[in-house]
Order: sequence, then C-alpha cells, then structure tokens
Amino acid sequence: MSGPGDVEDVTPATWAVLGGRPQGGGEPVNAPIEPTSLYLAGGERSYSREDVGAASVAVEDLVGGLEGGAALGFASGMAAVAAVFEQLPVGSAVAIPDDGYQGVRMLAERGARLGRWSLSTVAVTDTEGWQEALLNCDLVWLETPSNPLLQVTDLAAVCAAPRRDGCLVVVDNTVATPLRQRPLDLGADLVVHSATKFLGGHSDLLAGVVVVRDDDLRAALHHTRTLTGANLGLLEAFLLARGIRTLPLRLDRGEANAIALADWLGSHPAVTAVRHPGWAALLSFDTVGTADDVDAGLARLRVVHHATSLGGVESTCERRAAVEGQGHLPPTLIRMSVGCEDLADLQTDLARLLDPLAA
Ligand SMILES: *Cc1c(COP(=O)(O)O)cnc(C)c1O
Repeated sequence: MSGPGDVEDVTPATWAVLGGRPQGGGEPVNAPIEPTSLYLAGGERSYSREDVGAASVAVEDLVGGLEGGAALGFASGMAAVAAVFEQLPVGSAVAIPDDGYQGVRMLAERGARLGRWSLSTVAVTDTEGWQEALLNCDLVWLETPSNPLLQVTDLAAVCAAPRRDGCLVVVDNTVATPLRQRPLDLGADLVVHSATKFLGGHSDLLAGVVVVRDDDLRAALHHTRTLTGANLGLLEAFLLARGIRTLPLRLDRGEANAIALADWLGSHPAVTAVRHPGWAALLSFDTVGTADDVDAGLARLRVVHHATSLGGVESTCERRAAVEGQGHLPPTLIRMSVGCEDLADLQTDLARLLDPLAA
C-alpha cells in the first residue's frame, strides 16, 4: 500500500510530519489508540506488553526514521537508559561524562556500588580521553551538548575511533534531537532519548526511546522491555507522535530565542558567565550574588516557569545546584530551557530576575 509517508527520501523535518502514519484508503490519518492488553488468539499479536499497539508502533516508525534506525518506545527516558545498562554482563567497564543528566550518573554509580560494573568518568570535551575509554570499556555513554553545562563532545571523532571488541557507544540525543545531530550516522550504536523533553515538547507526558541499527541489539532490548514491562503507554505514544509533528518549528523558534538571549545575557551586569553552544534551545548562566538572591529572583518571574525539566513550548528556569546530585555545580547557575514565547517578553522577564541582583 502507498500513500503519504510511503517515502524514504525526505528530510527529517518532512519525516516529522509524515512518519508513522497509517497507509491506504479508508485508514485514519493518525494511528489510533487501541485500549487493549490482549488480542484474540490466532493472530500475530497476543499480549500488549510484548506486542505493542498501533500508536506505539507508529511513534517508533516516526522516531526511527528521524534517527535513521529502529526505535523502541519506553515508559520514560530513564526506563530507556536502564534497558541499555541491563544489556551489560556483570564485570563490564563503563565510562560516563563528567557533566550530564544526573539520573544517568546516579544509575551508573548505583550499578558500580552493587558490583555490576566498574565506572570511570571522562570530561565531555576530552576527545583523547573518550578515545582511550573506547579501548578499555564495554559501554561508553555520551551526552552532547551536556546538561546543564552545555559542553560539546566531538561526536564524529569519538564515534569513528577504534574500540575494544563489543564496546557499545551510546549517545543521549535528548537536547540536540535528530534534527541537529544523528549519532547513528556518525558510528554510534545506540541513541537514547528522554522523549519527555523536546520530542514530546508540551510537558504533558513521560516517554523514552532507544534507537539502534543492529538487529540482535534491537531484539535484546525488546526482550528486556517485555521482561521488565517498561512499555510506553498508548496515550503517551499518541501524544508523543502529535508533539513530534511540530518539533522542527518548536526547535527553530526555541533556538533562535536562545541565541538572542545568550547574547543579551552576556552583556547583563548581573551575569558572570553564559554557557550556550551557539545552537540548541537550552542555555545556562551564572550570576553575581548568592544562591538565596537567585532563588528570590526566580520567584519574581512572570513569563518563564520556575520549574525543572526542559524541552517544552514554555520556557523553564531552575537553579541546578538545588537539585539532588548536582551539588558540584556553581551555586548560582541557572539552567534555562528556552521555549516559544516572544523574545521581548522573555527578556523583560529575565530582567525582573537579574536587574535587582546587579543593583
Ligand atoms: C530528562 C532526561 C533524562 C531522563 O528522562 P525521563 O524522561 O525524565 O526519565 C535523560 N537524559 C536527559 C538528557 C534528560 O534531560
């Protein structure tokens, strides 16, 4: 059958609109939510923990096409992360970045404490350090740009370097999204997403995705998902697909706002450092004053939400050192996820936070 979406040669931005749609006359334009845990005997599907419904299959097609691999949906980003770590035989060696999502670090440290693997840390920007890790480790975990310090790993140089037999390279692509970076094309084995963030884009769902090219690895991850019951819910799958339709628009707008704000923040007298890679809808900055001054400033915001998380249409700000496992960060560091509001309103709001600090 053919119809819209029956194409292979479109750009990712077009695939975001077309991908994962049912094909053929009389089919709905959006894959439906089928609320069922079981299927009548005699067909290909039996129980929905193993054989996921149409809305999940659709969003897996959609994200798989964007990243250039086969995608598996999970109940959250951390469920996807845990499924990857679950593939490691006991006694493996793991390397993680020195700046990155704190949940991944906490999970990796817990596994090391329990004796499941040994753990080392490499600086996000240390290309030689990563190349060495590839020769000594079974799992190399990359996250770029890193969260919350927005440092960048040279993915092309790291992913193409020689590595130990069987070493898996994973890239957490949550912040860049496949519209800005496709790690599988560069030689990574797995891509992981917290689809809760930019892919979903509306702060209304939890979802995770793993994308791979290798069939055996895909089968192993599917088996893990079935055994642990870490499936993506069907309503979440439906909402995620709907969110991804506008990812290219949201990302362009958030990035343009972030580029302008990074520039503006850089010349504000209360700001001592701005961290932004020059693209991406996420930035962080340090201020003069104390952590208490910043907390009082965050309470003055009227447009930007003072809240954790990132990747929504609404801008969010948070003092990251206040978050569990983030005590190593500069005490006044504010991470901002830049959304789709009007730039002038965002600037006015950040001035509410910052102007009294400079006074
Ligand atoms: C939020 C996040 C995760 C974890 O995802 P959840 O959906 O919250 O479980 C992993 N990596 C990055 C970069 C994140 O921002």
